[in-house]
Amino acid sequence: MTFASLGLIEPLLRALETLGYQTPTPVQAQAIPAVLAGRDLMAAAQTGTGKTAGFAVPLLQLLTMEGPKVTANSVRALILCPTRELAEQVHASVARYAEHLPLTTYAVYGGVSINPQMMKLRKGVDILVATPGRLIDLFRQNALKLNQLQTLVLDEADRMLDLGFSEELANIYRMLPKKRQTLLFSATFSDDIRLLAGQMLNDPLSIEVSPRNVAANTVKQWVVPVDKKRKAELFVHLMRKGKWKQVLVFAKTRNGVDALVDKLQGLGINADGIHGDKPQATRQRALDRFKSSDVQILVATDVAARGLDIEDLPMVVNFDLPIVAEDYIHRIGRTGRAGNTGEAISLVCADEVNMLSAIEMLTRQTLTRKMEQDFEPEHRVPDTDASGQVVKKPKKPKKPKVSGGGGKRNLGKWVDSGEVAPVEPSIKPVRKVPVFNTGPRKKK
Ligand code: AMP
Repeated sequence: MTFASLGLIEPLLRALETLGYQTPTPVQAQAIPAVLAGRDLMAAAQTGTGKTAGFAVPLLQLLTMEGPKVTANSVRALILCPTRELAEQVHASVARYAEHLPLTTYAVYGGVSINPQMMKLRKGVDILVATPGRLIDLFRQNALKLNQLQTLVLDEADRMLDLGFSEELANIYRMLPKKRQTLLFSATFSDDIRLLAGQMLNDPLSIEVSPRNVAANTVKQWVVPVDKKRKAELFVHLMRKGKWKQVLVFAKTRNGVDALVDKLQGLGINADGIHGDKPQATRQRALDRFKSSDVQILVATDVAARGLDIEDLPMVVNFDLPIVAEDYIHRIGRTGRAGNTGEAISLVCADEVNMLSAIEMLTRQTLTRKMEQDFEPEHRVPDTDASGQVVKKPKKPKKPKVSGGGGKRNLGKWVDSGEVAPVEPSIKPVRKVPVFNTGPRKKK
């Protein structure tokens, strides 16, 4: 199959050729004709599958071929993204695809001054990429009108809900014209996402390009069991041993990111960190420097987990496992993209066994464990498998207390594996629901 056979116009074919896209990826092969035909979409597509072009390319074609010229402060298509980084990245891709078209594109997000964004919107923009909060601000300040909107794209919709944007999405939904095309992309489909889809989509075509909740098989994954207090030491050891050149590292908390970056920098290692507490410009600079290999190790919280496209990223390290098992898929999706191979290593301590179990159950695989010599944990990580069972070894009979105490084990912090939601076998049909309610707002 070729892009030309999907009915794309010449300026788009030229842009794709320049980018070296020779054949459509599976999500593109399905999404492009459906979007061109005006259908609503509910697409399950993993990161790195080429989903951005899957919605942006046909959208650009529709906007070029039909519809009136954009008027002042209006937009004709809106792409909503969960994070500023993703908004920047999606916009960069859209702008590249639109290179030979007479269309205007722009991205707006929080954390930067709103005034230049208001100025830019004055003349109207054909395609606007936005994060939900800033979009609402602009709308409330009358800098943006949505009555000309033809198409709405929800990119990484699951992430938007995870980040607590359900209220913002409900507000945006009320601002939209009833007659429009809506495309919803999500790596995973929770019940909340189905609810959102039921509300926002009209007779959608369901597209699923890869088995749900299964990490890309181009990523080699394994686990190194280790005691919590020795994780940083193990990381440095593995990094030196494996001569790692460019690694994206995920830590659970902002403090965790800062602590690891400090430690690495203290050892003379070229590391930087990104998390939600840092100003947008600092985050973007760190990311750009990492992309251009000026920074070797980028430590991030899950803010950076989804959507970031870093070309040929060879390795992702989970310094801490994610609390939400689905984030594991997103994190490791930063490597092994567009057919490349990658490695994803998780440093797992005994406290994290239930998270490990939830990940194995979700991805339907038992992750290989590789013990690192001299780092064997004192606190054993109990065995796990894809059934969601944590195999607890029979307790040894208690030794009589002599003096002092044994090490404290803290396994009670995470949900019991029995509480982990079961994996649904396949995509359910989209259900229409009367009320827009995607559950309680979670903390960012
Ligand atoms: P995405 O899933 O949209 O973030 O895309 C992942 C990566 O695949 C990006 O670097 C795209 O530039 C690249 N890509 C998307 N479509 C194609 C294609 N048809 N051929 C080659 N690379 C592609």
